[in-house]
Amino acid sequence: MMKADKIWMDGKLVAWDQAQVHVLTHALHYGLGVFEGIRAYKTADGRSAVFRLREHVQRLADSAHILMMPLPFSVEALSEACVEVLKANRMPEAYLRPLAFSGYGTLGVGAQNPTQVVIAAWPWGAYLSDEGLAKGIRAKVSSFTRMHVNVNMVRAKVSGQYVNSILANREAVLAGYDEAILLDTDGYVAEGSGENIYIVKDGTIFTPPLSSPVLAGITRDSVLRIARDQGVPVVEQKFTRDTMYIADELFMTGTAAEVTPVREVDNRRIGKGEPGPVTRALQSGFFRAVKGEDPKYRDWLSFYQA
Ligand code: PMP
Repeated sequence: MMKADKIWMDGKLVAWDQAQVHVLTHALHYGLGVFEGIRAYKTADGRSAVFRLREHVQRLADSAHILMMPLPFSVEALSEACVEVLKANRMPEAYLRPLAFSGYGTLGVGAQNPTQVVIAAWPWGAYLSDEGLAKGIRAKVSSFTRMHVNVNMVRAKVSGQYVNSILANREAVLAGYDEAILLDTDGYVAEGSGENIYIVKDGTIFTPPLSSPVLAGITRDSVLRIARDQGVPVVEQKFTRDTMYIADELFMTGTAAEVTPVREVDNRRIGKGEPGPVTRALQSGFFRAVKGEDPKYRDWLSFYQA
């Protein structure tokens, strides 16, 4: 990871190396933290913009609310702090990582410690590689299951829940694939280890509904809107793993992964084994939106001068 100058910590900017916690910090032991991943891009007019900043910070606040974790800063203050971090580090493009976690105090699952909040930023290229973005990745259905809706707080982005993602991703990568696809407890397709998932069949996009154990991805919301604006029908519906095998196209989305085509699942070629026309149009529509090249989606951008 490339070091930046400053990290925002509990209300002020501190030097990167000074952003530290005690080893008995509660969240380190039990995973009681909530976080976000947000991207900022250079835009067409020379300024930069954070993509859907407000929605990300609101999701962070919602995640904290779900866990009954008091958040000592407002959505407005945290949104401003995100931009402050980008400016302080003079970053025209970056990945932002806000994290709110149960801090130092007492240990034990019943402890009620003060919440600490940090916001870091660093440059992060294509999450699933430039080649993956251009040509598509190879994925494998995981032997790990996405946790049931009564186990996993599906509307929250909770640190501890990412052990499930890490197990699935490692298994897939060690087996020679680029990413894992997790099924739900009924065996239907849920999502990637850090991405929502979609198939395209006969010109229609299908994606698991938000009643499935999937994160309500902000990229998901964005690409579904762009798809509808492009005249592509969207159906939010559960589907089986073999429905992926016979799809015309398959892709994943996430703040880190952006819009990544999937060219192969479980060693079956998807469609022609390359990004299809619907995926390509959506990918370019998405990049135009984040880079401020499409006035329709200007509201999604929070501009700043790095
Ligand atoms: N699902 C999971 C499990 C994720 O970690 C992410 C990344 N935040 C997503 C989906 C995609 O969400 P978003 O588009 O908001 O980044």
